[in-house]
Amino acid sequence: MKRAFTFWGLLWLCLCGSVYGETLTVTPDLQPTSLTPVLRLLEDSSGELDFAQLQTPEYQARLTAWDQPAANFGYSRSAYWVSFTLRNPTEQPLTLLIRQDYPLIDYLDFWARDDSGNWVKTATGDRLPFASRPLNLREFMFPVTLPAQSERSFYLRFASQGALNIGLSVSSETAYLSKLEVEQLFLGIYYGGFLVLVIYNLFLFMAVRDRAYVYYMGYVLSYGLYFGALNGVSFQFVWPDNPWLANESLVFMLGLTLISGVQFGREICAGRQLAPRTDRLARLLLYIMIPLTVIAPFVSYRLMVTAFTIFALITSVLLMVMGAISLLRGSISARYFMVGWVALLASVVVYVFKTFGWLPHNPFTHNAFQVAALIEMVLLSLALGARVNEIRKRGYIDELSHLYNRRYFEEQLPREFSFAVHSSTPLSLLMLDLDHFKAINDHYGHRQGDRAIRAIGDLVLKQVRKPVLPCRYGGEEFAILLPRTSEEQAAVIAQRLVRRVAELDLYEMPLTVSIGVASLERGNFDAALQLFEAADMALYRAKQQGRNRVVVSAPEVGQADAGAVTKRREPAQVQ
Ligand code: GH3
Ligand code: MG
Ligand code: MG
Repeated sequence: MKRAFTFWGLLWLCLCGSVYGETLTVTPDLQPTSLTPVLRLLEDSSGELDFAQLQTPEYQARLTAWDQPAANFGYSRSAYWVSFTLRNPTEQPLTLLIRQDYPLIDYLDFWARDDSGNWVKTATGDRLPFASRPLNLREFMFPVTLPAQSERSFYLRFASQGALNIGLSVSSETAYLSKLEVEQLFLGIYYGGFLVLVIYNLFLFMAVRDRAYVYYMGYVLSYGLYFGALNGVSFQFVWPDNPWLANESLVFMLGLTLISGVQFGREICAGRQLAPRTDRLARLLLYIMIPLTVIAPFVSYRLMVTAFTIFALITSVLLMVMGAISLLRGSISARYFMVGWVALLASVVVYVFKTFGWLPHNPFTHNAFQVAALIEMVLLSLALGARVNEIRKRGYIDELSHLYNRRYFEEQLPREFSFAVHSSTPLSLLMLDLDHFKAINDHYGHRQGDRAIRAIGDLVLKQVRKPVLPCRYGGEEFAILLPRTSEEQAAVIAQRLVRRVAELDLYEMPLTVSIGVASLERGNFDAALQLFEAADMALYRAKQQGRNRVVVSAPEVGQADAGAVTKRREPAQVQ
């Protein structure tokens, strides 16, 4: 009779699907299936109820079916008891995995019957060492075996200071394995990305020694560890024996992320210079957040998480404003900063919309926030690069003429020289000096003299087409390096410059220049310095021959002079 009942019951089950009242029917290849629809639940607000009491009919009657799609209880002081029943209709015993997918539960106890029918308790949770878990996985996973043709109930008790999210599912061992592999791959890529960014920027920091890199690395590390704590990865791999850290690291890392993020933003947007008022507010925020972060691990978790969530909102708005101001005032690195920041905020919006049910729950909406955080890190790394570029360029530019300065010329000359020698391409150098500039200064004043220097800078930039390295070599001397330019072309350029300078209308200043030209092709020089000296020598000749003219370093003279003249012209010789 009983057999027949089982048979008809089974048949009915197969026809109707797997959910039979509050019992879930399992199969050997069961894909991960949520247990939420079959949960029975009891809130124990005193937190003192024990398992033996729960087994009494009184409490069993109070376990009620949970009829909502999710079982999230926010911050709750109550303990939550959960029960569900699985049914194995097959002729074989089935090994299954029960999974709790939110890994930040403080205390999680699990009860299942062993073969002789006795209840066996597994006590775990992230307040206990990682080794308390039955399986070495970042989420809680309980393996259970259901004998052939049996029905078994299981109990869990949840208690946590943080958000109490019950996310239970069941699957066959094999179905879970393939899912696990994909998940591990993505986690590896994700945290690998963080690690690569830290290492890459560490090397850059050693080369550049810019403080912004320290803040950046602090930001990436703390953000990475924050997500690591959230996903349970840090507890599994970084500090498995330290449940205290596993719990407190979350708020502490959140605080560090905010602090280093604000500091990084201030540096990269040049807040103090470009947005001083916003910068002052940011500093104020830091004065509050730093002590809060220090005490965070020692005070109520709930309080700190709430405080930091509010600070995160304020910080985001503040950094957006600072970035926008800095962007409007011409900072290039602020562009990358803003794109990164907008990407992160957009993903937060997606996440919030998903949480409120305005967007569907899918892998994209679920992971958008974490993925965007990594994308933001990449963009901020680009912002750092742009900033370093900006600074370096500024160090190579002459303020008055806006041409390159002497330091840059001295770095580039040997490079261009050896490139030209090795690639057998022409290379020419013009040395340009203003005529009687001392007299002009004396007559028109130093300020007008400066104007003349600036006018020459503009003229050079306009007249000489790329590729060219125009530099202000010294006071009123300019060096113009012309890669891939033959002597003939260089002489034409020099002639044109001399003519254009004489035509300049600068408050009636009689401004003229003399130019010496030297070319690699004729001189057969062995070192960059010889080319330079040949051009300088030619300039000296131009001065001697009456100024306002071009002299090209003659081949034989070029060689002889290049060796003979090592001393620079003295001003006295010229006048
Ligand atoms: P020469 O034709 O022989 O080159 O005559 P010169 O007067 O130009 O020769 P010299 O090199 O002796 O004088 C250079 C003068 O350029 C000296 C200095 O007063 C002036 N000078 C150098 N740097 C600057 C500058 O940055 N601004 C201004 N206004 N004058 C400068
Ligand atoms: Mg001069
Ligand atoms: Mg001079």
